[in-house]
Amino acid sequence: MALSTLSSFSSSFLFPLKTPKPYKPPKPLTITCGSKEPKKPSKNSQRPNPRSRKKTPYGTSRRSILKKTFIQEQVTFTAPVSDDPHVGIIGGGMAGLLCALSLEKRGVKSTVFDTGMHGLGGRMGTRLIEPQGLIFDHAAQFFTASDSRFAELVDYWLEKGLVREWQGLVGELELGGQFTPLPSSPRKFIGVKGMRPLADTLISQTSMVNVVRPCWISKLEPFNGMWHLSENGKPQGKFDAIVIAHNGKCANRLLASSGLPLIARQMKRLDLSSIWALLAAFEDPLPIENGKVTFEGAFVKGVDSVSWMANNSMKLLDDSQGNSPHCWTFFSTAAYGKKNKVPQENIPTTTAEKVKTNMLEGVEAALGLPKDSLPKPFYTRVQLWGAALPTNTPGIPCIFDPHGRAGICGDWLLGSSMESAALSGMALGNHIADYLQSGGASPEEFAVGLEKEFQPIQGHDIGQFPGMDSLGQENEIPVPEYELAT
Ligand SMILES: Cc1cc2nc3c(=O)[nH]c(=O)nc-3n(C[C@H](O)[C@H](O)[C@H](O)COP(=O)(O)OP(=O)(O)OC[C@H]3O[C@@H](n4cnc5c(N)ncnc54)[C@H](O)[C@@H]3O)c2cc1C
Repeated sequence: MALSTLSSFSSSFLFPLKTPKPYKPPKPLTITCGSKEPKKPSKNSQRPNPRSRKKTPYGTSRRSILKKTFIQEQVTFTAPVSDDPHVGIIGGGMAGLLCALSLEKRGVKSTVFDTGMHGLGGRMGTRLIEPQGLIFDHAAQFFTASDSRFAELVDYWLEKGLVREWQGLVGELELGGQFTPLPSSPRKFIGVKGMRPLADTLISQTSMVNVVRPCWISKLEPFNGMWHLSENGKPQGKFDAIVIAHNGKCANRLLASSGLPLIARQMKRLDLSSIWALLAAFEDPLPIENGKVTFEGAFVKGVDSVSWMANNSMKLLDDSQGNSPHCWTFFSTAAYGKKNKVPQENIPTTTAEKVKTNMLEGVEAALGLPKDSLPKPFYTRVQLWGAALPTNTPGIPCIFDPHGRAGICGDWLLGSSMESAALSGMALGNHIADYLQSGGASPEEFAVGLEKEFQPIQGHDIGQFPGMDSLGQENEIPVPEYELAT
């Protein structure tokens, strides 16, 4: 399918990204990764003896240069690019998957590594609870399409039955139960069976994309002109170029000793919010001040512990009789997430209980119900998205270091939405294809975003929905100073 998935795209993504000024690699620190094994750092390389520190020809001690570049040397690949290149993509969310599809469209094979135990998709997560038949989109809820390239892709997904328009009532809910519907435009889209099935289907019929899952890439090593990837010491293959399609602590750890200081520096500038999710199933429809809730989704205003609520059963299940349980996803505000942050892998029971109570009280207040009158859910689960949404962005489709043959894609490069993740993945896939097809002869021309400054992101706590003006955000994904197309 992938060839055809993108076959209807405009060819605009096939043009190289343009950089406004020439890129200067950090010369004094480059090591060559051509046909020789890179120099192994000595045992004490992280802590040089101050007396033995050498001055460089640039008048600075080697140590101070290393410090400035996050204590690692830049890798420079000098071997010619292979005739049949293979790209390793670490992260199988929207950005990584679209990067793989764009590479395939250009005849480049790739392997996508993802940690997902139940499927691909990352923050396009859908949780199914059996045998009760409960269903929850527990991260991305819906998306809009403002960019024509993304809109074209969404049209294709609509045609193939992978997504559909969300026709349910969506609006803003003020503390006290005042609900105001949002205009029907722009169109809102959802995965037909949830967001995760959309991610899994995207590359189900590809011929040049290999998926390895669940797999947590823990090391990147340049050797013999290739990137060698491994998971806790277990080799996972070698690649001509690599893509980091994830963010947060994991990416910072992976990049810390990779030989990609410029990429690592950009990743470290990224700030991310934290959001609590409460999944709750109720036997009956929720009450609201003057009756029963009829909306399917609401941006909640004026409540610290809740910023969004959506009824997944109404959104995702064809239940005209209304017999299914009502499966709600509630999200906290980013401010509440920050105040109540704990290690997401190890949430203390007392914190989970407190968050659940606070969030259910917040729902009750938002609906304008008397205290303790919200029906008790028969199923609940709390989850912390510790690295939920980016709060700043370089505003560029992707980052690429041609000397290290490595790039980054993800929502945060352009904003905080599925659309920005998709655009970023497509841009990087095409950029790497251009670079590989150039044979790597003039790498400087392909450097993108390595020095770009970051700006704060406008938008709702659960992301940007371009076109939905009342949410206090920009109308479109910001057009970057670097062009996506010529
Ligand atoms: C609570 C919440 C609500 C949201 N709601 C919306 C919404 O309604 N609409 C909207 O448009 N957007 C929403 N978003 C944002 C949207 O989900 C993201 O912008 C988008 O999904 C990001 O895609 P991505 O590919 O950049 O990253 P991700 O989806 O995070 O993908 C990265 C993937 O890499 C994997 N990974 C990480 N480290 C490794 C490793 N070392 N080895 C292998 N794999 C690794 C991760 O497991 C993950 O699968 C929401 C996000 C959150 C958290």
